[in-house]
Amino acid sequence: MESTTAQRRFPHVLAVAAAALLLGPLLLICSPSHAIEPLFDAHLHYRDTQAERFPPDAVARTLDENHIEAAIMMAPRASLIESLESSSQARIIPFLEIAQRLGRKMDWMYVEDLREQVEAILDRDAVAWRGIGELHIQADDRFAPSFEDLLELAVERNLWIVIHGDPAVIDHAYALQPEVRILWAHAGSYAYPSLVRDYLIRHPNMVIDVSMRNPRINPGGIIDADWFELFLDYPDRFLIGNDTFSLARWEHFTVLKDGTRDWLMQLPDNVARMIAWENGQRLFPAP
Ligand SMILES: [Zn+2]
Repeated sequence: MESTTAQRRFPHVLAVAAAALLLGPLLLICSPSHAIEPLFDAHLHYRDTQAERFPPDAVARTLDENHIEAAIMMAPRASLIESLESSSQARIIPFLEIAQRLGRKMDWMYVEDLREQVEAILDRDAVAWRGIGELHIQADDRFAPSFEDLLELAVERNLWIVIHGDPAVIDHAYALQPEVRILWAHAGSYAYPSLVRDYLIRHPNMVIDVSMRNPRINPGGIIDADWFELFLDYPDRFLIGNDTFSLARWEHFTVLKDGTRDWLMQLPDNVARMIAWENGQRLFPAP
């Protein structure tokens, strides 16, 4: 399948190079008005340790300055979400971060009664959590009962799950719960276009955020031909993200966002619009 596709699209590499040569100066001239914005950020974190140094009004200003008009915000507590909702113009889509709250980053899946604890939070909080994550999980841990319980809960309650993990984890999740809606963070542990393509075909209920992947997607400032082709073939399955897992990433948000914008602008307008904004709006509509 892969080699057939590659052969069929052989001239593509040349086309990208030619487009870059022809459009490069044009894109520079047009960049302020090129219709990339607004942006939907599918991978933000906000935690207590960040809030101390980067308060909600700083987040609000950062999102505003970077044209982030809607964002998936992963946070361990409802009060963090509420503080952002009251200070930000952006639409905040809250995802519950349970790993460090109920366990540790890499062993949360062995916490007993995890499902019950998560359900208690969901039932108690005033925030309408739309998903759970980010969940770091490696292939060896994919059979942990609490992970399987969480997948079941996600389907029952119509919640998304953000998985930062190996391909085998995704396969196991869909073997158990074909309906579960997974947001595969960073295009998975092995973000090779051929592998990603295979998983998009196999798992139609999965979408991908390509946060942290700018160096692979846009090496040297020219979009990689295989990624380009993948985005054109599956424009409705990708989202961007700036992954503010650290304070420094909130503080340098604009640089990160500009790194993403650099390759979005090399895509055809309609594809860039879908990945930058429309997919997020469609998949995570306002309640
Ligand atoms: Zn993250």
